[in-house]
Amino acid sequence: MESALDVLRRVFGYDAFRGSQQEIIEHVIAGGDALVLMPTGGGKSLCYQIPALVRPGTAVVISPLIALMQNQVDTLRELGVRAGFVNSTLDFDTRRTVEAEFAGGELDLLYLAPEALASAGTMRLLERGRIGLFAIDEAHCVSQWGHDFRPDYLNLSMLHERWPDVPRIALTATATSATHKEIATRLGLDGARHFVSSFDRPNIQYRIVAKQDPRRQLLEFLRGEHRGEAGIVYCLSRNSVEKIADFLKDNGIPALPYHAGLDARTRATNQDRFLREDGLVMVATIAFGMGIDKPDVRFVAHFDLPKSIEGYYQETGRAGRDGEPSVAWLAYGLQDVVQQRKMIDTSDGDAAHRRNLGQHLDAMLALCETVECRRGQLLAYFGQELGKPCDNCDTCLAPPESWDGTIAAQKLLSTVYRLDRERGQKFGAGQCIDILTGKKTDKVVQWHHDELSVFGVGTDLRDNEWRAVIRQLLAQRLLSVEGEYGTLVLTENSAEVLGRRRTVMLRREPERAVSAAKTAKASRQNAAAALPKESVGVFEHLRAWRAATAKEQAVPAYVIFHDATLRQIATDRPRTLSELSGVSGVGENKLAKFGQQILDALAELD
Ligand code: ADP
Ligand code: ZN
Repeated sequence: MESALDVLRRVFGYDAFRGSQQEIIEHVIAGGDALVLMPTGGGKSLCYQIPALVRPGTAVVISPLIALMQNQVDTLRELGVRAGFVNSTLDFDTRRTVEAEFAGGELDLLYLAPEALASAGTMRLLERGRIGLFAIDEAHCVSQWGHDFRPDYLNLSMLHERWPDVPRIALTATATSATHKEIATRLGLDGARHFVSSFDRPNIQYRIVAKQDPRRQLLEFLRGEHRGEAGIVYCLSRNSVEKIADFLKDNGIPALPYHAGLDARTRATNQDRFLREDGLVMVATIAFGMGIDKPDVRFVAHFDLPKSIEGYYQETGRAGRDGEPSVAWLAYGLQDVVQQRKMIDTSDGDAAHRRNLGQHLDAMLALCETVECRRGQLLAYFGQELGKPCDNCDTCLAPPESWDGTIAAQKLLSTVYRLDRERGQKFGAGQCIDILTGKKTDKVVQWHHDELSVFGVGTDLRDNEWRAVIRQLLAQRLLSVEGEYGTLVLTENSAEVLGRRRTVMLRREPERAVSAAKTAKASRQNAAAALPKESVGVFEHLRAWRAATAKEQAVPAYVIFHDATLRQIATDRPRTLSELSGVSGVGENKLAKFGQQILDALAELD
């Protein structure tokens, strides 16, 4: 039997295992069951692909991602691995071929959609071959409380009843311990060993900015740091997806829309283009993303506040699967809070459900307004500890100053008090800010708000500073917002501030001083990942070769080679096949298939 490490080197061309991969792989090869929790990009696929190659028989992989099976299989075939899939998209002949290959013992991996197991035909097929392993990917789909529930996953426990001696490995990137337990119970994985990795993604830089002029901010972010790179921009509504995609296109950024309102063909085409072409920006609702294993997504931008930390973390996790520096960028403003509160207040479901949504929103707000390390906060949310500040999030890179905002908070809260409690009037943030900053707008005059004692007492802060105060009071639950118009109302805690029994520390808006420092550090980081000057042209040349080859073979560019591999080739400039084989990501099959072409491409530059 070839060792796991040998397979890693020979087939995949990688030098060493990452994290707990080796332990998991050896456990499964030895016939043990495993439940694997690893963040996106952690390297879950190898955990079943290598046992699939080492153990006799075919590994049957259950995956809900029909639209991506073709890609997964292409990627493996490019490595010389005998993989196939069976799902509803296959034509009759292809299906017959795959089935014959499986029955004849000619497949290392067979991908199946969970619903296929409900058919007698599939069961008869499975009876005909020799199964070496069951891998259950995206195992959180078995969780009825999760957002990706697939009823067919509930039937998967039957695999074990029918093939009790075949080991099973279930994998997910969902971190909460409730889901974790549910997976073990529902899949009947009681005896399985649990492998829980750290959910930290150190190569992703977390940044959260206050919305001033959000479109301009997004454009600056894309143009300034991610020109020509692939990324995802998440928006909450279909409407804003369309608008932002158009806005980016109008500004010369190649962008595609993706949301559930588009017809299936357009969705499939856009997803396919995003995977296959270099440097496209996908503007999408959260309908886009599960299982997108494009490794070189360089940024995930949130243009609206996500509804929960779980969702946010999964979405941002789609950046940087290849381990290269990537950015998770979120723009958030007072309007987001108002809008989400409104959605919660008017949502279907009982009070407990709304309370649950409210708690998710509060946790998200607290993350946005923290003065501490964002990554530390995120991991703490999942019950993990970081130990020390990460040095790769905005609050670490440019620590926000905090200031004693007690007096500002009192001014704001007493304005709300005057309007709401004394006059029984409902007003939102805009009116309060106009009152505090002494603006005699029509609306202020009409309601005689210029006669209030608080009129003009807040000229020491500018409008957007007041908005920041309001956001933070909301995050600290010293203020609340309700109803369709985002009316500000006091909470049971407000009285402590008004009665001077509580100090309120606020974070200073970093808009001016901070962003310079931030970018300096960010670009330093990019520079480290970037190439020496003399290799840039070589890298571009290799990329052009890769694009042409990918097109010819009708596979995504990254299936040929990852950027990191091309980058290393560009700097090392190997002269022989054996030198080339030392580059990470160049395995046996790719060496045989593309090695000479690469050497020729390099020689063209001499
Ligand atoms: P996950 O499924 O956990 O999101 P993947 O299995 O897609 O992650 O792996 C993420 C990326 O890391 C892939 O591009 C994969 O080729 C790469 N990778 C995984 N394990 C290793 C390793 N040991 N050495 C180098 N690269 C690896
Ligand atoms: Zn940090």
